[in-house]
Amino acid sequence: MSLQGAYDDTNIFARIIRGEIPSVPIFEDDDVLAFMDAFPQSRGHCLMISKTSRARNILDVEPEVLAVLSAAVQRLARAVRKALVPDGIVVTQFNGAPAGQTVFHLHIHVIPRWEGQTLGRHAGGMADIAELKSTADMIRAALD
Ligand code: AMP
Repeated sequence: MSLQGAYDDTNIFARIIRGEIPSVPIFEDDDVLAFMDAFPQSRGHCLMISKTSRARNILDVEPEVLAVLSAAVQRLARAVRKALVPDGIVVTQFNGAPAGQTVFHLHIHVIPRWEGQTLGRHAGGMADIAELKSTADMIRAALD
């Protein structure tokens, strides 16, 4: 999918927002949802999405939505730092399939990194759900 095009309501994150498929949530409010990446590149890899916007990527998104999303990402990254004590945290997002995007509902990755640990493959192996839930509990407990 290119950078042009219409939002597809059947994308997997739209379905998660509607509760049609399960996720491992960390927190949500009227505007945003944070949940665990099911195919994590590191322990604690999580995602932040807007629940209100139909933006596919950062080019589409309304600036006011981006502002809310960015503040929520900072809060999430701080909780990840407190809960998991990584050596670094990648905050990133992809725009368009050639850039690495696979789900076309704007989302921000928060990926903790530890010295000497190789990053897993992007959208690679599926995580153990019980493990995701316990990591989500730890991150949630660390939210300010
Ligand atoms: P991107 O490639 O930036 O579009 O990222 C999409 C991310 O969504 C990848 O890191 C996938 O591992 C993740 N992902 C795909 N399906 C699900 C799902 N059902 N629940 C949670 N994360 C998912």
